[in-house]
Amino acid sequence: MQRVYLTAPDSPLGEAVSTMLRAAGHDIATEVSRADAIAILDDAYGDSLVASAESLVGRTAALLDAMPASVKRVVVATGADVYGEGPAECTDCGHVRPENRPNDVIAPWEPRCPRCEGPLTPAGVREEERVQPARPLSALRLSREDLLLAWGRSTGLGVCSLRLFEVYGPRVLTGAIHGMASLIRNNRAPELPEDGLQTRDFVHVRDAAKAVVLALTNARAAGQIFNVGSGKGSRLSVVAAAMVMARGAEIEMKPTGEHRRGDPRHLFAETMKIRHTLGWKPEVALTVGVGEAVALGQASV
Ligand SMILES: [Zn+2]
Repeated sequence: MQRVYLTAPDSPLGEAVSTMLRAAGHDIATEVSRADAIAILDDAYGDSLVASAESLVGRTAALLDAMPASVKRVVVATGADVYGEGPAECTDCGHVRPENRPNDVIAPWEPRCPRCEGPLTPAGVREEERVQPARPLSALRLSREDLLLAWGRSTGLGVCSLRLFEVYGPRVLTGAIHGMASLIRNNRAPELPEDGLQTRDFVHVRDAAKAVVLALTNARAAGQIFNVGSGKGSRLSVVAAAMVMARGAEIEMKPTGEHRRGDPRHLFAETMKIRHTLGWKPEVALTVGVGEAVALGQASV
């Protein structure tokens, strides 16, 4: 039995983690001083870079400064946005990693092979691949992860970082699925940047919570970084169409033809590491989760 302190117990992820921990016989500590494990789940940022740095990095540093000796494990739930543009396969060059696209990118949207300029097939990103955050906030998340892992190495305590892909589900008010569901429930067309054929990796909040619980309770997680995603790239237009069908509405979808600054074209997880090391695998199918998102939208109208 562990006493776990959560930095954001009331967040959608925090609630799901608390429920699972209690069900598994663990306790939730209301103060750090009474904890023997900590889950850093907050992802709050401010309206300036200084405020965001304070929120993401400063508060983590303060937590480490005041770390009680009873704490043996720390898990941070961070974002897969640290990767930037995902890797790909080139028929001539093999596994390659395109750079992030420029902010003024226009169609054709697909990245080309950085070696031969040939066409590419998107591939899942592995944990050891280069990070290339496209946004300052992603760089701050990476700084927080670096700080925690370095602290773990220097103290010998088990720190684990979970790089969550697009988390969605009840009460999650960020991300593409929430944005599309809230438009579709008002019979409006979901917003599809570019041509809508970009891929993302969606993971339900309950599956994300299960990864946090495993990272807190499995000794093999110490010192590791794990991707938490479905391991599949889903095209935004396909997900949007599934949501429109689940809603039973007739909505014509029109991609915006515009790039959103910092957005990768393709980013999805390679999840072999967490599957093999922690025995984690996602259980909520995207079709089920998408139906749930639309139904929740209808309930809250
Ligand atoms: Zn090539």
